[in-house]
Amino acid sequence: MDDVNELARNEDLAELIRTIPNYPTAGILFRDVSTLLLDGSGFRAAMDRMIATVDPVEIDLIAGIEARGFIVASAMSYALAKGKIMLRKPGKLPGEVVGRDYTLEYGTDRIEMHVGAVSPGQRVLIVDDLIATGGTAQAGVALLRGQGAIVMQARFLVDLPDLGGAARLRAQGVQTEALCSFPGH
Ligand code: AMP
Repeated sequence: MDDVNELARNEDLAELIRTIPNYPTAGILFRDVSTLLLDGSGFRAAMDRMIATVDPVEIDLIAGIEARGFIVASAMSYALAKGKIMLRKPGKLPGEVVGRDYTLEYGTDRIEMHVGAVSPGQRVLIVDDLIATGGTAQAGVALLRGQGAIVMQARFLVDLPDLGGAARLRAQGVQTEALCSFPGH
């Protein structure tokens, strides 16, 4: 494989993501982006490349999923001068909230957002560190759409395509891209 293809698949960034087997439960290969975050130029390259996949004219707001999604959302929001929405774990937001329950690769969870954070018709880009089964991102899309948002795009640092989440999001009309992908769970 030549350098251009390796760069196109962001192999240089994938190498910065550590894999921890059997975390948080047996059989899971945890793709740990904390090692990418530790690398200043690697993180900048990751954000630059992710930002280059987005047309800022087509989005009004960026929604980040707690907690690692906030890091991605924050960098993109700063660079693109777009506001951001926090999709948070239950009980964290002080104002009136609306929420959605969902199934994780390892358990169940719920995300919430502030009522009024998005106005009907605003176009929201949803971001997180990783998409696995897509349960979290789908809950985010449903939550935002339930508030009248138009959710057409999603971006992730990592896709685990064998778990089918990105395909499920695309089937819901969300144009979905990730910088890197890893086989397996
Ligand atoms: P899912 O809802 O199955 O798409 O899971 C996505 C969420 O769970 C993301 O917020 C990830 O941070 C986390 N996650 C799920 N599976 C993994 C994994 N194998 N490695 C690291 N994070 C994961």
